[in-house]
Amino acid sequence: MAAHRIVWCAAFLASGAGVIHAQVAKTTAPITVSDLRFRASVLADDSTRGRETGSVGDDMAARYIAAEFARLGLEPAGEGGTFFQTVPMEVRAIDWTATTLRMSAATLRPRRDYLPLPSRGNLPWSPTRELRRTETVFGGTIADSTHWIDSATANGRLVVLRVPTALGSRAGFVLNAGIPGRFAGAAGIALVALDVTPTNYVEFLSQPVMRLAAPGTGATDPADMPSLLLLSNNIAQRMFGAAIDSLAVGQFGTRVGGGMAFKRGPTEAPARNVVAILRGSDAARRETYVSISAHHDHVGVAPRAEDHDSLRAYMHAYERFRQASPTLVVTPAQAASIHVNVDSLRRVRPARRDSIFNGADDDISGTIAMLEIAEQFASMNRPRPKRSILFLAHTGEERGLLGSGWYSTHPTVPIDSIVAEIDMDMVGRGAAPDLEGGGDDYLELIGSRRQSTAFGDLIDTLNAKRARPFRINYAYDAHDHPEGDWCRADHYSYARFGIPAAAFSTSYHGDYHQVTDEAEYLDYPHLASIAGFVGDIAATVANLDQRPVLDKPKPANPFARCVQ
Ligand SMILES: [Zn+2]
Repeated sequence: MAAHRIVWCAAFLASGAGVIHAQVAKTTAPITVSDLRFRASVLADDSTRGRETGSVGDDMAARYIAAEFARLGLEPAGEGGTFFQTVPMEVRAIDWTATTLRMSAATLRPRRDYLPLPSRGNLPWSPTRELRRTETVFGGTIADSTHWIDSATANGRLVVLRVPTALGSRAGFVLNAGIPGRFAGAAGIALVALDVTPTNYVEFLSQPVMRLAAPGTGATDPADMPSLLLLSNNIAQRMFGAAIDSLAVGQFGTRVGGGMAFKRGPTEAPARNVVAILRGSDAARRETYVSISAHHDHVGVAPRAEDHDSLRAYMHAYERFRQASPTLVVTPAQAASIHVNVDSLRRVRPARRDSIFNGADDDISGTIAMLEIAEQFASMNRPRPKRSILFLAHTGEERGLLGSGWYSTHPTVPIDSIVAEIDMDMVGRGAAPDLEGGGDDYLELIGSRRQSTAFGDLIDTLNAKRARPFRINYAYDAHDHPEGDWCRADHYSYARFGIPAAAFSTSYHGDYHQVTDEAEYLDYPHLASIAGFVGDIAATVANLDQRPVLDKPKPANPFARCVQ
């Protein structure tokens, strides 16, 4: 693995500008396995460094996609006559130089005694309040608000909250919904959960957070906010002189000083959607669009390297337990029962240290399928579809559908001229080793009938006409499905405006969001057939005289929280 990468990086670094020129011209008109494999080797390569939104690596991917759209002769549909649409983003990171916590003249240790919590989810990005000889008070248990202290007691103090063991590893996310009103005036909120937060979570929680930097974003941010942090049991015990479980709600502890400091700034590179149009052939319909989308961003680089093969063996065993569980949760006992035979792995090859989240399936598989569809359409020697095809390569998906959210609220074509949206997210796996019932005809589909029964029927009819129809699994579309996928991918950014939206996937697997999600594990023949199918659906809808009939109510408020 390492060798070819070194060669590749040298060529890339030499080009300096982060553009992937030399490779562009190597693909052919039809959708082929070798084209898909080649494109994956470019976009999911280590040199794109896991394509974190707003990173140089993700910008390399965006430039490659734009260069491909240009080579194929598609119409630029970004901003200013380009293929790019900038998604304004800003980053907020822990300022370790200015973050301190002192107690009884002792300076506490970050990550071991306490951990600052950057604002995720709906938490504001306001400056945090300083702790100046601030009194600490035991506020109660996080999940039991009926027995919390009142706001008068919380105001100006560091409110320390107990976290039930069951919530343990997720404690760092429990405030994401927002600061509880009662504690809005507190100097800080500390969750006693550092000991039960796994190391990889501590590392994840310490990562910079990103959000849109658009007018209006953060408009509701208060002038300042409580410092948010995780605390270790040991420090809580020293603070109150007793074990956290024995404290009375409202009990005061020692005073503390310091504060959780953050710095804000732009991303290292522009975060950009890449947008192109294959203009339709029918004068009356070419100003309407069928959109095909995928996301080119992923989650970047892990704070520390893992051994690729043993991690993979472990996660695949873990995933089998997860898929077999009706609630998709693996019990600690099941996790503990997984034993990886490292010796047998070593007999195959030496350890491979790996820290890059290549995201080959998530979502380079969808991105390269979209490029192959575009190439097939652009090079076809028959009349183009009547309506136009809008190709959308989103950024920011992993950061909360930020790229598609931005495009659908700042569209470069009228939003109601999009007659149907087809998203492909993780369409490169789905074989039997990955999931129960998997196979090269396995396909998951969500949402196709949520706005338009006709749209869903059209897809099933086309599938039935295939020489080898896909076994389409609609289970993830159920309103009570625990995975919640209806709300978790870019199709939703369009569906919320009443656009018929179908989301294709070949499901989860043991490499999902792991450094092991590599191009070498993609099922290219399966992916090629899915790309062909999506191209057929898009062409069929684009050639309809009437756009798919909407027979289901539009969401009343497109900005309301999504419900599965
Ligand atoms: Zn994805």
